[in-house]
Amino acid sequence: MRVTFLGTSGAVPTTERNPSALFVNRDGDKLLFDCGEGTQRQMMRFGTGFAVDHVFVTHTHGDHVLGIPGLLQTFDFNDREEPLAIHAPAGTRGTIEDLVSVTGDTPSFPVRITQVSAGDTVLDGDGYEVRAIRTQHRCQSVGYAVVEDDRKGRFDREKAEEELGIEPGPKYSKLHRGEPVEHEGRTIQPEAVVGPDRPGRTLVYTGDTRPTDSVVEASEDADLLVHDATFADDWAERARKTAHATGREAAEVAQEAGAKRLALTHISTRYGGNPTPILSDAREAFDGEVFVPDDGRRIDVPFPDE
Ligand SMILES: [Zn+2]
Ligand SMILES: [Zn+2]
Repeated sequence: MRVTFLGTSGAVPTTERNPSALFVNRDGDKLLFDCGEGTQRQMMRFGTGFAVDHVFVTHTHGDHVLGIPGLLQTFDFNDREEPLAIHAPAGTRGTIEDLVSVTGDTPSFPVRITQVSAGDTVLDGDGYEVRAIRTQHRCQSVGYAVVEDDRKGRFDREKAEEELGIEPGPKYSKLHRGEPVEHEGRTIQPEAVVGPDRPGRTLVYTGDTRPTDSVVEASEDADLLVHDATFADDWAERARKTAHATGREAAEVAQEAGAKRLALTHISTRYGGNPTPILSDAREAFDGEVFVPDDGRRIDVPFPDE
């Protein structure tokens, strides 16, 4: 699972930071979370490719959706034929429809808009799901969690070969699939050579939000939490008024959830050149790895047991 930060700025872009967008490549499935103005250029700059089939919108504030018309127009110029799904919070269909048809042209490819609510499985992928989670902002909003299925346990080849004397071959795959095999008159149970299931990875992307219990719940043991951290402590009051979070509040959420890594994003222009205050506040509240990604930062999210 490779995550590319395409836009890490708050409401207003800077020369260094684009408005919100996060690109996730999950074993070849390309998922885009939010699509701020200029997202398509960031996709080119940072080489993510354009083969996006799903756009997940957290809410319809301009800094999260104004890149949609431009991206769709480029798809159109490229003679795209594949359908595109845009998922957005319940009650925002009209706004998304307006964005899709703002120039008066209809895209040459099918665009499917789905409205989602917290708790919904938005995408049932091969080996993973994308779920909508409750967030708390000034408008209809959701966050998203990418949750991978458990993986098969480790196969103990040495034990199979040396202790049990089973030759490598079809019996190995059968055992790994969880089926017993007959070997020299004995039944070998899969548990003898296959370890317990290993958890997959969890990525949580909040979009704009106050710190909230539902995000803590969704981020339990998360391998990467990407959380709103618009301000540092000095503007905590402003964060509360505008329904954003501070670096410290994001860190408290990550700490309570037992998340392994925390990416602080949606950085206010106030700190654009130097997000150190946000980061140092967060470090005081979170024991795990925490960072403020620059635009273009790429992370290969490791498995929990790696
Ligand atoms: Zn925003
Ligand atoms: Zn917002």
